[in-house]
Amino acid sequence: MAANQASTDVIIVGAGPVGLFAVFQLGLAGLKAYMVDILDKPGGQCAELYPEKPIYDIPGLPVCTGQELTDRLLEQIRPFEPVLHFGEMAAALDKTEVGHWRLSTDTGRIITAPVLVIAAGGGSFVPKRPPIPGIEAYEATRSVLYAVRRVENLHNKDLVVAGGGDSALDWTINLAPLARSLTLVHRRPEFRAAPHTVRKMRDLESQGLVRFELGQPAGLKGSDGRLEAVVIKRMDGSTAELAADALLPFFGLTMKLGPIAGFGLNLNENLIPVDTERFETSTKGIFAIGDINTYPGKLKLILSGFHEAALMAQAAYRYVHPDKKLRFQYTTSSSELQRLLKVA
Ligand code: FAD
Repeated sequence: MAANQASTDVIIVGAGPVGLFAVFQLGLAGLKAYMVDILDKPGGQCAELYPEKPIYDIPGLPVCTGQELTDRLLEQIRPFEPVLHFGEMAAALDKTEVGHWRLSTDTGRIITAPVLVIAAGGGSFVPKRPPIPGIEAYEATRSVLYAVRRVENLHNKDLVVAGGGDSALDWTINLAPLARSLTLVHRRPEFRAAPHTVRKMRDLESQGLVRFELGQPAGLKGSDGRLEAVVIKRMDGSTAELAADALLPFFGLTMKLGPIAGFGLNLNENLIPVDTERFETSTKGIFAIGDINTYPGKLKLILSGFHEAALMAQAAYRYVHPDKKLRFQYTTSSSELQRLLKVA
């Protein structure tokens, strides 16, 4: 099998808290999981939207932050050695000759399995695009980048980074030493990033490695999708043209259902209807758990997703092992489960 092809028991789309706990429940049933997430890290909304905020309604954990919950879930699933692919979007789905699901990601990876679990939350996080006329042509040539996958492509280039949050400042700090020039553009003198990151950026500015402009990107100049300059509109109303090979706008993320809408599932206002016994969709062998699903009485809470993951795993087992019966067991007393958990 090619390096970017794999076959497993269950594919999980989405490494948010619910997808991560699904790995645990599937693992207890002896099922192996592969996960894909478009983000570059696990934790979904908890890690992306509120890593430092306290959560008070996780059973048994009176208080923990979004990042702590993610870290604890990762620790809990470690014994099951899931295969996690980050920075990849689940892009297309079809069936193999033997009736398994074949998921393709936007990087060309192909994973096949008898069961697909969609734990995609509110959908994929997609970068907010600045309202610049004609920006699409430069996105296609990767002269406008919303994420940096290959730092080496930006060596010795004139770069314009836009935004005032952690991503904008982190990339400013990482790229300034290797760029030919780097200008950070932000519409306010204050930043939303961590104070130590702001200090680092200011140090680089005083060393002449970063130039700061108070304004917003307003236009792009170039030809055939090759960027030559970013036009910025300063807050005092003046404009300036900055020589640029690439513009990196970091204006936050929005959530869109994205390619899952084309997987052939019944949808109800961008949510996936499921039954409440197995959390299976209208298509056999495809389950939906967590914020992405809908059923009467659904509460978009992490604990609801955890419950859904447990019942989903029981039903998934029957697809992977149609000839076997899954025995109900407690982790406290089952030596078989303790062996799987590597605590025995
Ligand atoms: P998500 O956390 O949304 O994760 C889904 C993952 O799927 C994402 O990482 C996404 O990148 C990925 N994905 C989507 N589409 C694709 C695709 N096509 N390919 C690859 N990956 C894809 N809940 C509580 O219970 N208690 C709280 O106190 C609480 N506080 C909250 C505070 C805030 C500010 C917010 C925004 C939410 C809060 N919630 C809280 C809600 C909670 O975060 C969600 O219920 C929970 O994150 C849902 O988990 P999930 O795994 O279903 O989805």
